Amino acid sequence: MPFSDFHGNAETVRTLREMLARDHFPHAVILSGPQGAGKFTLAQMVAKTMNCLERPTTDGLPDFCGRCANCTRIAEADALEERFAEAVEARENLREADKRETRILVQTHPDVLIIPPDPPQMLVKVDQVRHVIHEIYYKPVEGRERVYIFSDADFMKEAANSLLKVLEEPPEFATIFLLTDNPSALLPTIRSRCMHLRLAPLSSSEVEQYLAKHRPEWKPRERALVARVCGGGLGRARNFDLAAYLAARQDALTMLVPALRAGDHSDLFRVTDTYRSGADGKAKTEQLIRTLYSLLEDMLFHKSGTAELVRNQDIQPELAHMAEGVDFSWIVSAVQRLGELESGMRRNLLRSLALDTFATSLER
Ligand SMILES: [Zn+2]
Repeated sequence: MPFSDFHGNAETVRTLREMLARDHFPHAVILSGPQGAGKFTLAQMVAKTMNCLERPTTDGLPDFCGRCANCTRIAEADALEERFAEAVEARENLREADKRETRILVQTHPDVLIIPPDPPQMLVKVDQVRHVIHEIYYKPVEGRERVYIFSDADFMKEAANSLLKVLEEPPEFATIFLLTDNPSALLPTIRSRCMHLRLAPLSSSEVEQYLAKHRPEWKPRERALVARVCGGGLGRARNFDLAAYLAARQDALTMLVPALRAGDHSDLFRVTDTYRSGADGKAKTEQLIRTLYSLLEDMLFHKSGTAELVRNQDIQPELAHMAEGVDFSWIVSAVQRLGELESGMRRNLLRSLALDTFATSLER
């Protein structure tokens, strides 16, 4: 899987490869861009190129073979979500005292370390950065460069200060990647010590073309829907669970429609009754809430005369009809109530009851 497999942002990819060619790669790089733009994929590609044993070139620039021992071991971390889940589970199985001292790290090659945010707060903690400091000054073991990838550079304060110390005196043979969808949240003192490269979201048509190749089982109108719902995030689009989305959307419509037409509630209660407690129920409810947001936003696009921005294009007429029946303030207050529902869910309110309350509170 060489660089030619990376979709979009050709200029940023070229810049990275030119820096690799000059053998003068910056010690710290902020790679920013929306979720699904390929930040992690690209950082992994750089890590492979730095350490590939075959060192091929394509288009006159360094590439990686994807087959050698270094490439394949680094690639084991490509499925980061799986490796992350394994690390979290391994920690869950430790004794209480050890659990507190164990930080989540993903390492499939001795010279490439991935530092994901540590649950439950989902922030990078000081002990994780200390681990980096502890080993970053040792020369690479099996590769040429040590690579540290902070897959979501959202730091606790102490951790950020600790990282700053490394950035002030980085070793020659190491590169740190900070991946973020919000670079302005990083300390200015960190930002000023890093090179900053941005990945732009892909256009809907670019995502559709990509999906035509990778999700051929979807119909063109389904691919168009996924591309719009994912807002240019390729990773998200490729793994999109279309069936779950359509089911959540049907439920969301069943909740919104009686609010507009003040009718019978039996359909509504039948739907909300399927949102139960437990982990499955949690994921299902989160999806429902996200979908409700996107439908309300689409209604807002209709009302403000920007129907071309509507994400759920395939149900345009229905959305237009719904939008006609309400005014701006109804949508604004619905979004506000949805926010309240969302924070109530975090406090573990009874799910189906909270959904009923939300839906009936929207009635005019
Ligand atoms: Zn290789």
